[in-house]
This record gives sequence, structure tokens and C-alpha cells, in this order.
Amino acid sequence: MRMMHWTIIAGLAVALATPVEAQTSRLTIAAKAMGATRLNSIEYTGSGSVFGFGQAYEPGGRWPRFEQRTYDAAIDYRTPGMRLIQVRSQGEHPPRGGAAQPVGADQRTVQVVSGKYAWQEGGAQAAPNSAASGDRLRQLWATPHGIIKAAIANAGKVDGNTVTVNVEGREFKATLNAQNLVDKVSYLSTNEVVGDYPIEIAYTDYADFGGVKFPRHIVQTEDGFPTLDITVGDVKPNATVSLDVPANVRDAVPPPLRVAVEKLADGVWYLSTPNARSWAVEFNDHVVVVEGIASEARSLAVMDEIAKLVPNKPIRYVINTHAHYDHAGGLRTYVAKGVTVVTHETNKPFYEKVWARPRTIAPDLLSKSPKPAVFETVSDKKVMTDGGKTIELYHMKGTSHNVANLLVYMPREGLAFWGDGYNPPEGTEPRDLARTPEQAIDLYRIITMNNLDVKTIAPAHGFGPKPFDNLKKAIGLIPL
Ligand SMILES: [Zn+2]
Repeated sequence: MRMMHWTIIAGLAVALATPVEAQTSRLTIAAKAMGATRLNSIEYTGSGSVFGFGQAYEPGGRWPRFEQRTYDAAIDYRTPGMRLIQVRSQGEHPPRGGAAQPVGADQRTVQVVSGKYAWQEGGAQAAPNSAASGDRLRQLWATPHGIIKAAIANAGKVDGNTVTVNVEGREFKATLNAQNLVDKVSYLSTNEVVGDYPIEIAYTDYADFGGVKFPRHIVQTEDGFPTLDITVGDVKPNATVSLDVPANVRDAVPPPLRVAVEKLADGVWYLSTPNARSWAVEFNDHVVVVEGIASEARSLAVMDEIAKLVPNKPIRYVINTHAHYDHAGGLRTYVAKGVTVVTHETNKPFYEKVWARPRTIAPDLLSKSPKPAVFETVSDKKVMTDGGKTIELYHMKGTSHNVANLLVYMPREGLAFWGDGYNPPEGTEPRDLARTPEQAIDLYRIITMNNLDVKTIAPAHGFGPKPFDNLKKAIGLIPL
């Protein structure tokens, strides 16, 4: 009895003494196994599928798929910085969902982060976007060697096969397999519609590239559905990566959020920020906003502008065309201010579900002082009128962009608003050359099917307002 007792205590003492050493040695073993010890930089290229986060055909459904023709990541862990070159083309035929599909020609994007600076390459000069640096650095630290380096540099903890480390403002978890290679990395991100959501990256099919182990297969999911699925072809350990920050990026001051106001008709205004537009419609004793687009910051700026345009009348309704995150990101601000959300009936349970989720990373007005959202829903058609102003809402049935999409029409003014499908280009060119016209044809079909006498289109994106003829020209109904 006595012997056993002492054995247990001795065993306990050993267990208590080991964690710190065990953690250090397991991370060191993993770094050696991965070939991370002498790895300062890496470039890897692959191809496969990429998906449009927040752009599902059905609310709560999977993200729409595109061909990822090129995925070329070049990382320097010392900077830290990364250049990511991606080329995507249309994935699904017929198109199904958003993310600016149907893509006409191959689309190339080049995203760079270098320390606190971030920018886009490919234009005449670098386009500064340093607000993206946090997300891109997290992407860098979530790579197989990045997470091991981050754990060693930031006192990461090891518990069993799980490594936990705080880096770039988030807690990352990584799992190690029996060979001490990184199997999976996960962390939280945030979005204006759904709040906190998980990003998970699975690394499988490891191969040796000059003493550095790297996965041949990478699958990333965001909020439960794939956003990237690539097969890695080539890996260059210690590749030369040039991440010099361009002068115009270093000196860039983010422009203030300004709302441009354009009168569309008596009591109807187009409220525009770059590529995100709403309407304000003045009724007898209240204001209706069309599209709580983009973000809380934008909604607050739009509300300020409406208070100047229509003093002493409250905003009572906000019409939501569809649940894509770039169109619904500003809705919660209206809910926080007691404004009723008008949307297709399919969207209501989706919003109720996702708006109840936690917002620890980026609290907003509604999460700081929660209240239930008030909805008025649309099935086929809804008319909002006070005798003076009339807004008609039509369910865009059978369109490939989104299953619960609304068209907004003002019959007296001949004005139409939609969320997506055809973005009027700048100047006199009527065609949206980035896209093939399937979804613009969908729009035209809905307009004619409901006998709407549209004269001016002023939608959520693009360079409107434009004559309705632009849409007809874009789909080949009248000559260019
Ligand atoms: Zn959309």
C-alpha cells in the first residue's frame, strides 16, 4: 500500500515538472520535422478551386465555386510579408451565386502585405489598402511553417497534439500529426453579417522539397464551407521575395468615408460611397432606405446624410435586396436604431440565426445594446405606399444570382434598383465587360415579366444612374 502511494506521488512530480520542457521540445521537434528552422522564406504555387465567401446562392448555403488557375504565395517570415497572386475564372455553368460571377475573362489579383502596410498590385501604381494588413498577416501565420515560427516566437503552448498561440490579435490553434507536421490551423475572423466565424485550414499529403516538408493539398473553410481547395505543384524554400513598400502606400492616408448625394426624382436620392449605393425615399412622415449595404460605418454615414436631406422625419424601413454579405453588412445598424427590415421571407430566419451569434472581435451597436429585429417580409410582391410615394418590391424568381433576391421599383418615377446582376459601367460603355450577361438577362426578364416601365436604373453597384437602354444594349437587345 505504502509503496504504491509513493509511486503515485513520484509519478505526479514528474508530470508536473515536464510541461514547459515538453512544450519547448515538441515545438523544436515540429520545427525540425517541418524544416522550419532554417527557412526564412518560401514560395509555393498550386491550382484548384476558390470560392466566394458570403456570396451563397441560398442564405446559409455553401460558397459559389470558381476555377483557381493560379495560386502563387511568396512569403518572407522575417518581414513579415507575403505576395499572393491569384487567377480565377468562372467555375459553375450555369452561374449560381454571387462574387461578381459570371466571370467573363480570367481575373488576376495581386495582394501584398509587408508589415503594417498592405496593397494591391496590377494597376498603373500600387493601390494602398493597409486596413487589410491584419487579415493578410494572419493568413501568413496560418501557413504550415508560419504557425510553428509564431508559436516559437510567441511562447506558444502545447497540449497533447494541439499548439495554441496568440499572434496578430487572435488565438490560433494548430494540430500536429504523428510525424510532428502541421495537420490543421484554425482561428476566428469577423464579418459584419455573421460576427465571429471560424477559419480552418487542413494541410495534407506532405512531401519533401529540399529538406522542407510542405503539404501537397490545402483546403481552407470559412464558416463551415470551403473557400480554397488547391493542389500544390511547386515549392521553393528560401525563395527571394521582394516586399518593398511603395512610396504611395507608405504615405497613403485612408480617405474619409464620404457619401455622395444625387437627386434621382422629387424626394428620391442616390446615396453613394465607392461601389456601394443606397436610395433614400421621403414618404409623408418617414424615410425608407433601399439597401443597408456594406458596413456599420457606411450605414452611420448614410444616416447622417439623410438627417440633413430630410430633417425631422425618422427612417422607418430599410429594404434589403438579398443576403449577400456586401449587401447586408449595414443592416444591423438600422436594427439597432429601431428601423424595420423589409426583405424576402427566405432571408428572415437566416438573419435571425446569424445575428444572434457572438461578436467578440468586432462588437457593433446591436451587439452592445441588443434588441430583437423587426421584419416585414415579401413573398412574391409587396407595395409600400402612403398615397404620395410608392415603392414596389418584386421577388426575382428563377434568377441565378440569389434565390431570395428583390427588385425595387418606383412606378411613378420609372426608377429601378437591384442588388446585383448588371453593374452600369462608367461613361457611355453599356456593357459590364467583366461579366458574361446571364444575370443581366435574368434582370431584364423580371422587369418585362412584371410589365414594369423602367426609365432609369440606379442599382447598388456600378456607375449609375443610367438609362434603361444601357441594360438592353448590354444584353444585345438593341445595338450598341
Ligand atoms: Zn449579390
